[in-house]
Formats: sequence, C-alpha cells, structure tokens
Amino acid sequence: MSYYDSFPSTWKDTPKNRQGWQRLQSNTSFLEKQQNLYRTLSCHYCGKGPLTIVHWSDLSSQNSLYKATVDHVVPRAHGGRDNDDNLVVSCGPCNYRKGANMPY
Ligand SMILES: [Zn+2]
Repeated sequence: MSYYDSFPSTWKDTPKNRQGWQRLQSNTSFLEKQQNLYRTLSCHYCGKGPLTIVHWSDLSSQNSLYKATVDHVVPRAHGGRDNDDNLVVSCGPCNYRKGANMPY
C-alpha cells in the first residue's frame, strides 16, 4: 500500500480519522519547539525539508509530502513515552512507512 493509498480521496472528519490524525501529529507543541530551536523542520529519517506543521483540519495539506509529523522512536505499544527524547520529527511518508502496522 502506497502512501497515497493510505489516505481516503476525500478527508472525512470521522472520529476514527480524527484519532488517526491526532496519533500522527499528537504533539504539535513538540514540533513547534523543534521549529523554534532549529528554525526549520526536516525529516529525521530521509532528511527532507523544510516540513510544515499542518493542523488536522487543514484539508488541503493533510496529505502533503512535506507535512511534519511526530514519530515515536520507541513505539507507544512497546512502552515508549511521549517524552521529547523519544520523539523525532518525521515526514508523512516515513512515518507511514514505519507505522505500516498501525491498525488504520
Ligand atoms: Zn522522511
């Protein structure tokens, strides 16, 4: 399944979609802190940037390749915490690739 296939062609504000979105971008404050520190956000995995912080309700940008997302180094399912040292900035495709086993 490709990155684009994982998104519905029309974003619907269902509780499930909203939950998935919030899981991907659960920590906007972390992203904003990183942006303040480094001026620009780039992907921890592929180095792509600058990435943009996109609010979940921004329908036009929600599947942007340059959407900044938060990735857990140690997944929460394996006991990872929401601490800053367990979080990295990731672009959408990398986050989706890594999180391919998430039950969407
Ligand atoms: Zn990436």
